[in-house]
Amino acid sequence: MKKTTGMNRDVTQKWRPATQAIRGGTWRSEHGETSEALFLTSGYTYDDAATVAARFAGEQEGMTYSRLQNPTVAMLEERIALMEGAEACRAQASGMAAMTAALLCQLSAGDHCVAARAAFGSCRWLVDHLLPRFGIETTVIDSADNDAWEAAIKPNTKVFFFETPANPTLDIVDLRHVCDLAKAHGITTVVDNAFCSPVLQRPMEFGADVVAYSATKLMDGQGRVLAGAVCGSLQFIDEVLLPFQRNTGPNCAPFNAWVVLKGLETLELRAQKQSENALRLGQFMESRVAQMLHPGLASHPRHELAMKQMAACGPIFSFIVDGRAQAHAILDALELIDLSNNIGDARTLMCHPASTTHAGLSEEDRAEMGVAEGMLRINVGLEDVEDIIVDMDRALSAAGL
Ligand SMILES: *Cc1c(COP(=O)(O)O)cnc(C)c1O
Repeated sequence: MKKTTGMNRDVTQKWRPATQAIRGGTWRSEHGETSEALFLTSGYTYDDAATVAARFAGEQEGMTYSRLQNPTVAMLEERIALMEGAEACRAQASGMAAMTAALLCQLSAGDHCVAARAAFGSCRWLVDHLLPRFGIETTVIDSADNDAWEAAIKPNTKVFFFETPANPTLDIVDLRHVCDLAKAHGITTVVDNAFCSPVLQRPMEFGADVVAYSATKLMDGQGRVLAGAVCGSLQFIDEVLLPFQRNTGPNCAPFNAWVVLKGLETLELRAQKQSENALRLGQFMESRVAQMLHPGLASHPRHELAMKQMAACGPIFSFIVDGRAQAHAILDALELIDLSNNIGDARTLMCHPASTTHAGLSEEDRAEMGVAEGMLRINVGLEDVEDIIVDMDRALSAAGL
């Protein structure tokens, strides 16, 4: 296979992000195809026994088995790494495979992990249930309180784990402060950047060590496949993540990697337009809903910080109405907006976290995280924003708002 410029860092690193999103990682076969090829293969063949021995010994470059390498997946990994400004990236089967791998590859019994209390339900499950089962201590804190991070540090603290903005409370973490603090204590920061993607926020520019993704969300952007990614230094990816990944196998399927590759080509346009639509809708709703959790609005307690860290407010925000019954009444009155717990999609989707994404947690745990019974989360899509506003207007009125 011909290594085209897309795989040559000397060339691709000079490109601006929009160019990297289209051409970064492109690795053409001898056919010279314009669109990336989809290599649906689990194995590879070799001309002779010496070649296969050299590949397994790591003395010769090349594929051996798709749990270890696959050309389509490699293209996605290189493109995400370039867009993130990371030395390396490994694609994963899903966002949760990425979070699990990013934590378990580096934590051992006796280590301590500090995590944000506001988080995606399954991320909290890792922290509350999975890590402790293996003797890893965890502490959850209010991630928007800068002092809480320092107060939680112990001699055995190895990892800080958080989302910003957080799902579904839209809590914003001060990336510069928390990453500087981690560096000073030899702690590795793992940032779940699912709500932003690299076109809206690049945590490594603020000193983050590891950035992990649900590529299911904005990167695919059209609600088709599950995928994930972990980005970090070459040393972290090769020496810490890869031994874990190659032997446990949370790999991204080539077909899913190919779909996400295509999604990345339009990511910047979608993320910008969806952010614009989300800001317009938020501004419209402000006079009708008492509690808006929207990083693009001045009413957000960390609005200024959010706008410093993020290129735009992103497509997702939440708001709180008067309890579960009113929240469900709004959902039931929607005509255009779909009732769905997915996010990052080109369609506008709305859900009630307490009875869906966060239903697995107890009511006390939800209250502690800020997931109120009356909270609704919305992913604003690419439809004409006037149609979204009309639908929201009617649904709010139907519920008495
Ligand atoms: C969706 C999501 C995940 C999990 O991703 P999957 O691709 O669904 O496994 C993790 N973190 C955040 C913040 C998410 O929104």
